[in-house]
Amino acid sequence: MDRNIRKVAVIGTGVLGTQIAVQAAHFGYEVSTYDSDPQSFDRAQHALKSVLKTAGGKGTSIFGKAQWDAAAEKVQRFDSLKKALNNADLVIEAIVEDIALKREVFKEINALAPRDAILATNSSSIPISKIEDATTRPEQCLNMHFYYPLLGTNMVDIMGGSKTTAKTMEAGTQWIRSIGCVPLQVKKEILGFCFNRVWRAVKRETLYMWAEGFVDHRDIDRAWMIFTGMPRGPFGLMDHVGLDVIYDVEMVYYNESKDPTDHPPEALKAMIDRKELGLKTGKGFYSYPDPEYRNPDFLKA
Ligand code: NAD
Repeated sequence: MDRNIRKVAVIGTGVLGTQIAVQAAHFGYEVSTYDSDPQSFDRAQHALKSVLKTAGGKGTSIFGKAQWDAAAEKVQRFDSLKKALNNADLVIEAIVEDIALKREVFKEINALAPRDAILATNSSSIPISKIEDATTRPEQCLNMHFYYPLLGTNMVDIMGGSKTTAKTMEAGTQWIRSIGCVPLQVKKEILGFCFNRVWRAVKRETLYMWAEGFVDHRDIDRAWMIFTGMPRGPFGLMDHVGLDVIYDVEMVYYNESKDPTDHPPEALKAMIDRKELGLKTGKGFYSYPDPEYRNPDFLKA
């Protein structure tokens, strides 16, 4: 446990907030939560079951099912934001990705949380500088971006806004370490944080090579799998995330830069229009539940 942070409040317990709450409880923190939908924690746990199975099965996860259940039981759920924020040292907001709503919730959190509490957002795309002025403590606000699934992807981007102090960054960094995660410190504000931006560069390049017909997507995935030892390549990964989500994220980057080379390819849009969204619709770059890359012959010379 980090000495200065004892109690953590997680606001929004969808698939991300639930994992953050359980991870923090597992590492000994008192965790309180609030979600406007009282069923969200149970629903998220249900959705996470298959991820747990895979992560537990890999042997690399800190969690087995029994540990998950024990930690989840310790997470306190409240029916009001005020109760959840009582005595919190660190507040992590993980509600839906809507800037107006996040600003509204940050304003409420600021009014209700202890004056010295640190306020973090788990947003995937909104830098804290666009939220911090909804509070009267911008020096204590930051981005803490967890990855999905948290089990097996135990790294967290940490990024300050225009007024975040070094002390706040240090406290956040130490806390991330204390829950078994690797902090990825972003020194200057940038869209995509640390690894999301690296992954984004891979997506942009590989989608371009595929859409322009330079290389078959399977050869790109073969190369990636051989080179990195991962069980799937970028196209298999994009199928897992969902091609509609991939498209939307690429559009966020394009809308910021307005650089035509940042625009996702039309061929990807055509797949989405055909409802070829990847794993969730059974077809994307591969067909599911038995994608070609899982066949041992996929990597044979
Ligand atoms: P989700 O839709 O599963 O959960 C969002 C939760 O917020 C819901 O349970 C909803 O009831 C709750 N909520 C909405 N308005 C609220 C309010 N005013 N007060 C309290 N609760 C409220 O979403 P998610 O995938 O868990 O994403 C949450 C955040 O985490 C987003 O900012 C997202 O960008 C970020 N994130 C998501 C992922 C991912 O892969 N899903 C990865 C990293 C970060």
